[in-house]
Amino acid sequence: MTATPFSCPKRMVYGPCGGVRPNHDCEAAPEPCPFADSVVVPPPGEVVHRPRPLDLGTAIIDLVLPPADDELDAIVDIYRSLGAVALVGEHLDDPRPHIPHVNAERLAVLAQPAILTVTGRWRSTDEHADEVGRLVDAGVVAVHCVTGDHPAVRFGPHATAPFTLDGTRLAGIARAAGANVSVGESPAAPPTADRPARLAAKERAGADLAILNHAGTTGDLIAFADRVSATGATLSLVAPVPVVTDERSAKSLAAFPGLVLDDGLVDRVLGSATPRATGIAAAVEMGRTLLDSGRFAAVNLSGFAHGLTAVQSAEVMASIAGDLE
Ligand code: SF4
Repeated sequence: MTATPFSCPKRMVYGPCGGVRPNHDCEAAPEPCPFADSVVVPPPGEVVHRPRPLDLGTAIIDLVLPPADDELDAIVDIYRSLGAVALVGEHLDDPRPHIPHVNAERLAVLAQPAILTVTGRWRSTDEHADEVGRLVDAGVVAVHCVTGDHPAVRFGPHATAPFTLDGTRLAGIARAAGANVSVGESPAAPPTADRPARLAAKERAGADLAILNHAGTTGDLIAFADRVSATGATLSLVAPVPVVTDERSAKSLAAFPGLVLDDGLVDRVLGSATPRATGIAAAVEMGRTLLDSGRFAAVNLSGFAHGLTAVQSAEVMASIAGDLE
């Protein structure tokens, strides 16, 4: 009997996703990723998109919207005092998933600039276009188009979800729907040599900016930016800055396949007698180096300080963003 070839559980067409493991296995199963050795570059379309520069400020800060309006008000007050753009994910464990526009509308009422993520999960192609249209109507800064993590990564081998579109095709749909388009890329995920070309393909699909995933040191990120530039791509790049303040925050950031933290930074924080202060100082230092390199339009602060409330976490992020101004 002939074994059935393993096919991508996310139905990627221009794969690979950012979750390819270091041994080239799929993020969702112990099987070789069919895209791990090379990317598939989509054919050039008839429409030539030129990336548009967007007003991103200095720091884009991850935001998980709390259910309580008074808590969100307090967080937004902090973000707005810095002019910071919020990056809102569409997470597998969101209490109310599949509804980015609801989050966008809550933030629009508060005049908080935001980039809203839409994953390729759960919706049909038409429903994706409708969702993007609602985000445009809500006035978002950009729609962040990503394939999204496979549920098996978080919840075990039997967890699944319907995937309709990968990030590249989603970017094209979002551009056609009138959105400013953000995409993701994982510079440290195999095949690393082909990741710049994959990002250039996303630009041709419609991307205006790319928010990069954690990929090691500042030198690694700057080198990746130079390789993207060498492809001729001109989309804005947003550099990832991890806010590591304790062992749990380091582990939760490193738990996602394809993401790599700077070991030196993690060791410095975890070996410190004052890990939170050391982590904040390290994030400021990393952010400054990346911004001063001239390769990045802004930085993306992400991470979660355990033991803090959502408002206190926002204050930690704000203190870093303030020091980067
Ligand atoms: S690693 Fe990603 S692209 Fe590769 S098979 Fe798995 S889900 Fe598909």
